[in-house]
Amino acid sequence: MAEPTIYELSSPGRIGIRFPESDVPQQQFPENFMRKELPLPELSELDVVRHFTHLSRLNYSIDEGFYPLGSCTMKYNPRINEVTARLPGFSNSHPLQPLESIQGNLAVMYLLQEWLKELTGFHSVSLQPAAGAQGELVGGLIMRAYHKYRKDDKRTKILVPDSAHGTNPATSSMAGFEPVNLPSDKRGNIDLEQLKALCDETTAGLMLTNPNTLGLFEENVLEVIKIVHNAGGLVYGDGANLNALLGVTKPGALGFDILHINLHKTFSTPHGGGGPGSGPVAVAEHLASFLPDPLIGILEEGNEELPPLYGFIKPEQSIGRVKAFHGHFGVIVRALTYVLMNGAEGLRDVAKYAVLNANYLMEILKNAYTLPYDRTCKHEFVLEGVWEELPDIHALDVAKRLMDYGIHPPTNYFPLIVKEALMIEPTETESKQTLDEFARVMLQIAKEAHDNPELLHEAPHHTPVGRLDEVKAARDLVLCCWRPEAN
Ligand SMILES: *Cc1c(COP(=O)(O)O)cnc(C)c1O
Repeated sequence: MAEPTIYELSSPGRIGIRFPESDVPQQQFPENFMRKELPLPELSELDVVRHFTHLSRLNYSIDEGFYPLGSCTMKYNPRINEVTARLPGFSNSHPLQPLESIQGNLAVMYLLQEWLKELTGFHSVSLQPAAGAQGELVGGLIMRAYHKYRKDDKRTKILVPDSAHGTNPATSSMAGFEPVNLPSDKRGNIDLEQLKALCDETTAGLMLTNPNTLGLFEENVLEVIKIVHNAGGLVYGDGANLNALLGVTKPGALGFDILHINLHKTFSTPHGGGGPGSGPVAVAEHLASFLPDPLIGILEEGNEELPPLYGFIKPEQSIGRVKAFHGHFGVIVRALTYVLMNGAEGLRDVAKYAVLNANYLMEILKNAYTLPYDRTCKHEFVLEGVWEELPDIHALDVAKRLMDYGIHPPTNYFPLIVKEALMIEPTETESKQTLDEFARVMLQIAKEAHDNPELLHEAPHHTPVGRLDEVKAARDLVLCCWRPEAN
């Protein structure tokens, strides 16, 4: 039964909130700043509580069930992160406070910079970028600044593997370069011959995701980096998949020049609903002076009685600011909490269990789905959501049918080099029971696809809304569903 929406419940004069008496003098705003009317639904507090509670129940989240959304690292977000992020000293601070009064905040940022340097093997880290994609843009701008500084001005191209996330070519081009498509070989590695052929004095660099979006470790990574370096280019690492490497290997030690880290993925902050992310950028020593400003540094060393004095440092050739103030501080607090709660050994276990869980699932599911790159995977793997004998079944059908079983679908139709891709990343926080249940459901769906394909075509059956017309939804956007009745 369709209940009336909050909009239909609106009733003139109904009030949901009582404002306290004003304790400041009333101000007169300029006439032309004031709206004559502000037509909003008029509701009681109870109506509003029910509305938002109802909406929250339509949502699906990692707190509710398994969320194997490949490349997004939807791990459990420990509640203690929320406790530390809400400590009043952090949550009530203001970025314009004098340095002496925000030493604790700066210590948190400094400590996280140090941990990220240690975990990635780089010389310096900037915590400024707002998310991975902005980190990529920063990486591109650093490449640009570096080549310009060396008066090496013919470098106009960035090589981007065909398995890359869409943000890689987009940010390369935003940074003023021409992205050049680099094919993968049959094992899912970069094709070395093609790489050699494409590298020349116009190559500004390569953007490499390792493990790549097939979940595969680039087997020739050292050779790849050498080829690009020999041509005078830089190698940018898209670190979205760092979860697979934590404490096991360091991109800096492999020879990468730049790397972004998605704190909200690897270091646990709720993400996926467009909430704040954080994409720190780490660089090798020869690029440290180009980082966005400011970095957090120690201005005066501490001693037995006094803690160090932390402050802001501007790198000499800095590409400038990329974000208001100091980045997304709340995410930085959560990431440091996560790091400290795990410790060095715990972080290594994160990587090991993420890889173990993915391989466990892959070995079961490859019996019922095509696994185009059949190699030991890292934290994720990619199946085909299609069967030769069933031309009418698509990855989208499998994804929608999973929703009937209360499971969030994997990433689908990405990476582009796998047809009808289903990209599955279980993460380390799921138990064997959950993985077994997911495997059982996936095998069941493969069977349904053969026995009763209509079940898949019409899915989802049990969700608040059924199969959407995605083209119509994009073309014919409805962003506002309530307007006041015309008087
Ligand atoms: C998530 C992701 C990005 C983009 O990161 P955001 O933090 O979402 O901007 C880039 N590359 C890969 C491989 C990713 O998975």
